[in-house]
Amino acid sequence: MKKFDLIVIGGGRASNLAIKAGKKGLKVALIEKSKLGGTCPNRGCVPSKLLIGYAHTARAIKESSRHYISSQINEIDVQQIFDHTNNYVSKIDPGYESRFNDNVEILRGTGSFLSNNVISINDEEITAPKIVIATGTKPFEVPHKAAWSSDDIFPLLGKIPESITIVGSGFIACELANFFDAVGIKTKLVVRSQKLLSSEDTEISELFKEEFIKNVDVVFNTTIEDIKYENNSFELSLINKDKEVTSHTSEALLYATGRKSNTDTLNLQNTSINVDDRGYIKRNEMFETSAPGVYVVGDAAGEHMLQHAAAYEVNHLGRILLEDNSTPLKFKYMPHAVFTDPEIASVGLGEEEAKKNNVEYVVSMTNWLASAKAMSTKLDYPRTKFLVDPKTFEILGCHLLGPESSTLMHQILAVMHIDNDIRHLKEMLYIHPALSEAILPAAVQAVSEVTKYNTK
Ligand SMILES: Cc1cc2nc3c(=O)[nH]c(=O)nc-3n(C[C@H](O)[C@H](O)[C@H](O)COP(=O)(O)OP(=O)(O)OC[C@H]3O[C@@H](n4cnc5c(N)ncnc54)[C@H](O)[C@@H]3O)c2cc1C
Repeated sequence: MKKFDLIVIGGGRASNLAIKAGKKGLKVALIEKSKLGGTCPNRGCVPSKLLIGYAHTARAIKESSRHYISSQINEIDVQQIFDHTNNYVSKIDPGYESRFNDNVEILRGTGSFLSNNVISINDEEITAPKIVIATGTKPFEVPHKAAWSSDDIFPLLGKIPESITIVGSGFIACELANFFDAVGIKTKLVVRSQKLLSSEDTEISELFKEEFIKNVDVVFNTTIEDIKYENNSFELSLINKDKEVTSHTSEALLYATGRKSNTDTLNLQNTSINVDDRGYIKRNEMFETSAPGVYVVGDAAGEHMLQHAAAYEVNHLGRILLEDNSTPLKFKYMPHAVFTDPEIASVGLGEEEAKKNNVEYVVSMTNWLASAKAMSTKLDYPRTKFLVDPKTFEILGCHLLGPESSTLMHQILAVMHIDNDIRHLKEMLYIHPALSEAILPAAVQAVSEVTKYNTK
């Protein structure tokens, strides 16, 4: 049996751990069944965000009358958009491969456990005192063989559809629906409930919905009852909550209804590794599973399901395994963004979550009209919302809705990172009249709400 110092199963974010271990002189096996780099650069964050740039430009032209500019789009070459994105994706795997030194053996295939410390890969058995599971997630199976998941559009091969139906209401569904609609592909989003982005703060997701449906055709409280596929086209029966059935035709059908654990490929029944009821691997704060010497990082643990979380965890695990660091990882905050029109960025608790968990809080919500830069966008929906602990001034949650929210959020994250006191956001000096000034009135209001709360 071949012996290594470290085996890493899954070449997504954990590729970086294999690279680092190889540089330190450890003999490493990196097992990957698909493309090195994993979901984010091949079929996730990066290609989906490359598409957003085209959507923004198209929307700006379509909405230019708001700025008294009359313009129209003559043509959008969607084929070129996908050629460019596909070309980017095609360079990821070779790009990653070139980053490993000779100490790292890349084993292409599906790795699975024969016991706690023996892995089977391509009919070979390998072992190591430390094994890291970093197998991520995969989309739920689609209900028709011609339908797509988000994995099927990166790269998008074959003819670009002229129309698409997308099923789902989460960030992937909204981002893709926004893109396809903006570049002129007839798009319908089918949503089972009456909400979009239901895990966001409710007030924010409702404002988002109001704006989003001005552009994208969304049917709520609706599911697909029947799918027929003939002559390269889907004939769909849509049924709503009143049991009314309508038919809808589109060339493509894409499901963005969630993702599931990849651990079914690992034969964990041969080990003492415990999984939760969704199939995600349980671990402690040192990334240790219930099998000695076996660790889990990133989406495979089912916690944050975000690239920046996975990357941070991989770095921290690297310190534990390669630098004898024994500090557990506790995230102080976990931000995320939804890169649509409108854009959302969010960190911490939403108001419903705070209520449900009986968290003491004060709330402030203001528009962005205090910033001339924000005013110049001529949008009246943008908002900043804070939830603050009235005893400590700690920011419990912050939710931004508006252009460049994901960028603006970093000023709040910096405060949360240092000592998490909202008074810094009230007292700091802002460049006038930058977009960032959109944070100031909400911070001022939150501090005043704390004072009111404590003088009640
Ligand atoms: C469309 C889309 C958009 C996204 N956008 C964002 C975003 O904007 N921001 C953000 O933070 N996150 C985003 N994400 C989520 C992000 O991609 C993931 O959180 C991140 O990739 C997780 O990294 P990971 O290394 O844990 O898993 P992955 O990157 O999924 O890597 C796991 C790897 O393990 C391999 N593997 C699985 N099982 C086995 C096995 N048994 N043997 C060998 N190899 C195996 C897989 O092939 C894969 O390469 C998006 C995801 C999708 C799908």
